[in-house]
Amino acid sequence: MNGDFQSSYATEALVPRATAGTSTSDAAVASVLKQYWGYDSLRPLQAEAIRAGASGRDSLVVLPTGGGKSLCYQIPPMVCNRVDVVVSPLISLMKDQVDGLRENGYPAVALHSAQEGSANREIMREIGEGKYRLVFVAPERLLHPAFLALCERARVGAFAIDEAHCISQWGHDFRKDYRQLARLREVFPNASINAFTATATPRVREDIVGQLRLRDPAILVGHFDRPNLTYRVRPKLDVEGQTLRTIRRHRDQAVIVYCLSRKETERMAAFLKENQVRAAHYHAGMEAKDRQETQERFLNEQLDVIVATVAFGMGIDRGDVRCVIHTSLPKSVEHYQQETGRAGRDGLPAECVLFYSAGDAIRNEELIRLSAENANDPETVIEGGMQLLRAMRHYCDLPACRHARLVEYFGQTLAHSNCKACDVCLGETKPADDATELARKVLSCVARVQQRFGLGHVRDVLLGKNTKVIRDLGHDKLTTHGLLKTMNADVLTQVMYQLVDQGLLKRTPGDRPILQLSENGLRAMKGERRVLLSIPQAAPTTSEAPSRDAGEALSESESGLFEALRGLRRGMAEMRKVPPFVIFPDTVLIELARSRPTTIEAFGAIRGVGARKRDAFGREFTALIRDYCDTHGLSHGNGRAPEPEEGDEEEIVRPRQSSKLNPQKERALEMLMQGAAIEDVAHQTDRAISTVGGYLAELAYRNPTLDLTPWVPADLQHAITEATIQVPDGRLTAIFEKLQGRANFEQIRVVLARWRAVAMREGG
Ligand code: ADP
Repeated sequence: MNGDFQSSYATEALVPRATAGTSTSDAAVASVLKQYWGYDSLRPLQAEAIRAGASGRDSLVVLPTGGGKSLCYQIPPMVCNRVDVVVSPLISLMKDQVDGLRENGYPAVALHSAQEGSANREIMREIGEGKYRLVFVAPERLLHPAFLALCERARVGAFAIDEAHCISQWGHDFRKDYRQLARLREVFPNASINAFTATATPRVREDIVGQLRLRDPAILVGHFDRPNLTYRVRPKLDVEGQTLRTIRRHRDQAVIVYCLSRKETERMAAFLKENQVRAAHYHAGMEAKDRQETQERFLNEQLDVIVATVAFGMGIDRGDVRCVIHTSLPKSVEHYQQETGRAGRDGLPAECVLFYSAGDAIRNEELIRLSAENANDPETVIEGGMQLLRAMRHYCDLPACRHARLVEYFGQTLAHSNCKACDVCLGETKPADDATELARKVLSCVARVQQRFGLGHVRDVLLGKNTKVIRDLGHDKLTTHGLLKTMNADVLTQVMYQLVDQGLLKRTPGDRPILQLSENGLRAMKGERRVLLSIPQAAPTTSEAPSRDAGEALSESESGLFEALRGLRRGMAEMRKVPPFVIFPDTVLIELARSRPTTIEAFGAIRGVGARKRDAFGREFTALIRDYCDTHGLSHGNGRAPEPEEGDEEEIVRPRQSSKLNPQKERALEMLMQGAAIEDVAHQTDRAISTVGGYLAELAYRNPTLDLTPWVPADLQHAITEATIQVPDGRLTAIFEKLQGRANFEQIRVVLARWRAVAMREGG
């Protein structure tokens, strides 16, 4: 694989041939898009990909993570009224997608080994009856005779191969199971095959086309820049502290921290937990059950930070990851692109920080050598690995726009010269003004010590250290001794490694590498060659996390509403046993906080709310928005003046005294006094469940003798009290977690309100 930064690949972007005879119109696509997803327009290349899919043409669609590949295979079977099959490598990915589609009212199903045989048989029967438009299967199941027969019967129109790079051993995630997909073409000569991947190297692309035997495919390659990501490379110094400080810029947000080894993930997670971060480690050495549980807790927002080896990530569909941290150097730019790709999939701003030390690069080199030991041709394997690693180090070392470097690696260019979203363009890492002079000093010191010493020694001489070794060797008498004595040792180390990476210095192989000058190094030393070096400045000055929303920032009260909507989403997800992002991504919640629709119709017009979700969630969400607006003096999105009502949604635990009630609230309180269930009250008064929970909390607060058993059985009241004692800061989510699902948020709020009231009386 050509992994060199300097190379430029020809980027294919072949527009599909005219799709004469297409049975689908753009209007049909637009209508399906609006009805099921609530979107008004397609993104670049989605239209072409959908057209190819609907017209029965093979295709290879390469779009970066978050680029919107799923819609490209979800829409065609719907508009063509046929059954398509999606091959997906991981059960968790399938489950999330099917859950998401079903919430949208889209008939999809998955067949996998985690389901009972009887359930799968029932599903197969339903598929045969044409109940579904999309069937997800694992690759090993696809060529099963029973499934093949079913595909025949159901007249499957197209096979979508998700994560298609898994078929290529040049990709970063080769899977043997995927190899069998090569047979699809002969088994179903009449069905089209549409391959999807985020991996962009031409070699992998060619391999996919060849292996799947695609016929005259439409090759659609999107742009690889991710403008919503801010990339930073920082020198690795005190990596635990640096990681913690970075995470603190993303309080209560989802963060992934990648470490090189399993041990490191455990150590880092323990450190973060000691510092009150809701973190857990994840690696391939854990029991499958524990891994699964950790992943689910992260998906369900019970964990903010996951500290993982690269074993973690592929099954992760959480779109609101706001930060990805690398505590060590990735193996290649492809890996880096893939791993950072998990940040900001929802299109909102996110940050990717890489803590770089040249020492890590050496560790990686050792790992490459070790892994090549059993290979047939170790030299080639080592050279391949080293080439990829060199490109990655180049990315870290060169003081050039990170966005530009990344897209150049994939053979593309950036339209503008300052991305305003990387440490270099933001001025946090600067090219050294005197780089050529600085390089000459280092290079001449290597020459002065006769090219017989390693990096540490040369550095110590340059720093002017007065050690016994230096004195014994007489190196304290060299003209280069102390030449860079004002420089920070870590920065100097980085500089020296940059000279190695740029080929000006060579390191001899073996355990104790010695620094030597290359031809180019000699020329640079003589001042015949210009050198570029980057010097990291102080830690990011933009200490705030990037704001959540891409457009105009939310006001304080709108942010409060966003948080309240997030809470409601979590509650609904919990009830439905799906991850919160399946209900709505953050983009929709932000739009809701900004537009504040209070009618079902206005709610349904929000981008990302399809017809099904409008009907399923409209009442709850609009009720919450109405209440929130009324209590916070925000105007309703439909322009209606806020109704005067007290009872702060966010202050449910310590409710305000109501001075004036609106009739609905009065009615709700009356019903509650008679012991009515929260759901019934919500239904009858057109209020959100969380709002009615708030009313109940208010009642309990004002009236500590109120019998709470209609809503919270006595033993549960005890359990909540116990859990509250164990959570000193009284955070609802922490109490909720402690109770492991035994109580819902409303129940906890009510019991807390009562205890607060008792405490107030006793204290006062
Ligand atoms: P990929 O599979 O390429 O990583 P997804 O298909 O998961 O990306 O899409 C990423 C996000 O973008 C999802 O939340 C999806 O609903 C959203 N999305 C996709 N297409 C559109 C569109 N045309 N308009 C608005 N949002 C879209």
